[in-house]
Amino acid sequence: MKKKTINNLQVKGKRVLVRCDFNVPLINGEITDDTRIVAALPTIKKLIADGGRLVLCSHLGKPKGPDPKATMEPVALRLSTHLGQNVAFLGYDEVVNDKVRETVSNMKDGEVVVLQNTRFRKEEGKNEESFSKDLASLADIYVNDAFGSAHRAHCSTVGVTEFVAESAVGFLMEKELKFLGGAVEDPVRPFVAILGGLKVSDKIKVIDKLLEKVDKLIIGGAMAYTFMKAQGHNIGESFLEEESIGYAKEMMQKAKDKGVKLLLPIDTTVAKEFSADAEHKVVAANGIEDGWQGLDIGVKTRELFCDAIKDAKTVIWNGPMGVFEFQNFAKGTLALAKAMADIDATTIIGGGDSAAAVNQLGYGDKMTHISTGGGASLEFLEGKALPGVEAVQNA
Ligand code: AMP
Repeated sequence: MKKKTINNLQVKGKRVLVRCDFNVPLINGEITDDTRIVAALPTIKKLIADGGRLVLCSHLGKPKGPDPKATMEPVALRLSTHLGQNVAFLGYDEVVNDKVRETVSNMKDGEVVVLQNTRFRKEEGKNEESFSKDLASLADIYVNDAFGSAHRAHCSTVGVTEFVAESAVGFLMEKELKFLGGAVEDPVRPFVAILGGLKVSDKIKVIDKLLEKVDKLIIGGAMAYTFMKAQGHNIGESFLEEESIGYAKEMMQKAKDKGVKLLLPIDTTVAKEFSADAEHKVVAANGIEDGWQGLDIGVKTRELFCDAIKDAKTVIWNGPMGVFEFQNFAKGTLALAKAMADIDATTIIGGGDSAAAVNQLGYGDKMTHISTGGGASLEFLEGKALPGVEAVQNA
């Protein structure tokens, strides 16, 4: 697939609308983690250096219309600090209006403005033409660098491309597609995937798809207990998706048929209740008693899983091995993060909670790539085309 990238654009003197992923966490109007803003800087800096007039837009949170708690103003301020230049915030509830158009038409080369939250417009989530056209009225060129929103067909990710003369993907989007795409399409082997987190049902298509590609599939986290139940074990009060037991059996059979090594926990850390300081102990996978729930993989499973990735050349990981938010149940996730940091392989973290876990545990900078999009990276691994990428390619 040929991608149009910002390396082959002539942006000097042009108005460039950049869809970023500035969906940062805010507490009382303060940005608590600006990873996503920092991740957008290479594209922004390149376009400034090339003389573009930058109009940046993004969604933030899930407002159902104008909502002062979801204003983009803190983002504009933080960007201004990172870029060392003034970044004007055009904070109108309509996002685009005549005042915005006038300001943008008076911009000089290298200047940057930030629009209000795209979700202040109700048309955004429905990909309705009126807002797509409004956004397009501010741009000669459109750049999509918001991988985290690429799985959604919204005005700012898809609709706008119909009304702008030229479209391209930014550096961040390119990087995401390179690593995730490379892993799925042409991985250096052995290729190991690690899946964890809460629900089997969220990852049904991913498990199915990965079994076609990987040499080994490791399953931990809450979703492992549905597999353990399918193996015939008692799982006590552990998290179970009854309706996915049949699917788990199917996947175990599929792994056998494909010659893929499917690794499940052989022991588990169980607790009396779901809390940070709950009484806990390690038991064998077939030794969970009623009244106990599994909140992490056990000691032997840690060794088994870490050992399984030692000779890997590509590892992709989505979903923590246990309730990593509680220190007592973060050991499995921590051990695996450390093992991934130590191996000589392309290591990819598939966004969302696994990215948070790896960063929180201090191994973020040891990974080859940490995806900025949880949902988008899962859909990509499922083999789905991402509408935000398709729209730019087809524009
Ligand atoms: P996901 O969003 O599917 O990646 O799920 C991540 C969440 O799963 C985290 O908040 C973890 O605390 C939670 N989790 C992982 N393992 C377990 C477990 N054994 N029991 C309950 N929750 C878990």
